[in-house]
Amino acid sequence: MFLKKYLSGDKAESVDERFLKLSHRIPIIDTHNDFPYLLRVQLHNKVNELDFNSHLTSNTDLPKLKEGHVGVQFFSVYIECKDGGDFLYTDFNQINSAVRDTLEQIDVTKRLVAKHFKDMKFVNSSKEAMETYQNEKKIAITLGVEGLHQCDLSLAVVRIYYELGVRYITLTHNCDNPFAMAASSIPYREKDFGLTEYGVECVHEMNRLGMMVDLSHVSYQTMLDVLNVTEAPVIFSHSSVYKLTPHERNVRDDVLLKLKENGGVIQINFCPAFITSGDVDEEGNSIATISDAINHVSYVIDLIGWDHVGFGSDFDGIPGTPRGLEDVSKYPDLVKSIWSKYDATEEQIAKLMGLNTLRVWSECERISEVKKGHKCIEAQWSDRLWEFPTWAKTAMPEIYPGSKQIYDKSTKWIDGDDLIKK
Ligand SMILES: [Zn+2]
Repeated sequence: MFLKKYLSGDKAESVDERFLKLSHRIPIIDTHNDFPYLLRVQLHNKVNELDFNSHLTSNTDLPKLKEGHVGVQFFSVYIECKDGGDFLYTDFNQINSAVRDTLEQIDVTKRLVAKHFKDMKFVNSSKEAMETYQNEKKIAITLGVEGLHQCDLSLAVVRIYYELGVRYITLTHNCDNPFAMAASSIPYREKDFGLTEYGVECVHEMNRLGMMVDLSHVSYQTMLDVLNVTEAPVIFSHSSVYKLTPHERNVRDDVLLKLKENGGVIQINFCPAFITSGDVDEEGNSIATISDAINHVSYVIDLIGWDHVGFGSDFDGIPGTPRGLEDVSKYPDLVKSIWSKYDATEEQIAKLMGLNTLRVWSECERISEVKKGHKCIEAQWSDRLWEFPTWAKTAMPEIYPGSKQIYDKSTKWIDGDDLIKK
């Protein structure tokens, strides 16, 4: 049902013609593009004078997105782990600016979209994304947050990000957090501790909100734990296949088989280090080519079928790109190559291009709708430090008799009785 209304076709045409026709109805969806991070690092988010509708030297600009038939773009609003480069940092109460910085990335992305409103539109639902592409002929833009460190311990921040238009959160980046263990920590820890109790609460809250759970960057055990507890399909927003390239950022076969059961999707990452050995030629250029990306897509198709694979390029977040797949304009070459390789049906190609992602997104929305009216989850990280000046206890009214005593012992009161709030 989900597919039929979008499809029609004639098998006698060439792959080029069939792709052109299909791409008018079906958007290519990419779930991970880091262009907003370049805006932060290089322009300090001053984009008023940037013409995104011109030929830029980054992997991404508007002319290239149009040439690539990209119809729905998830921009990553990534902020680094505040760990000073130590993957094993554990001081999660450390004060940091991750939430402020993430808000700035959301702001700059929305401003960029608004500035180019004739070509792009910020969307809030899977339905709106499809309508924007098909009816308004614009590129639908939405957001992903790349790590729960960007929520600074708090489910309240997860909820507010959803209100601001974020539609997936990666559970970790390259650092552990109170919710889950990261893939990057595996070599440094004795044990892969996976998803924590608080992480389970977070997954349930994301399910309630309709926020897609992203398992790229998480440890192997975290992947398994999440697949056991999630009530909604999950995504790997930008990961490739472990069997072909044994890197902890990639996904093992047993997880792919569970992903199929879960109804989720893996979006293949084009980063040379995740699709080849990562070797470079004599000039220091990556030896990866578009064929390597095709091999990773094919592996997933052969193992778990056409319903669970798509694209999550990591463009503008990686130091090199494969030959033949240098930027966002090259998706048609990728799609057409896979089409020819398999002599695939239009329905299969439409799923790969974007319908798989839309299916997962809309299923998360449906589950959220079913949970409408459920109370939000008020769980908090058990080691969170609650710290207030003593006057806030002694001088302020009680909400009700005894309310001051509830968390008295687990609160750190800082002397300052003389600083009575006026
Ligand atoms: Zn990443």
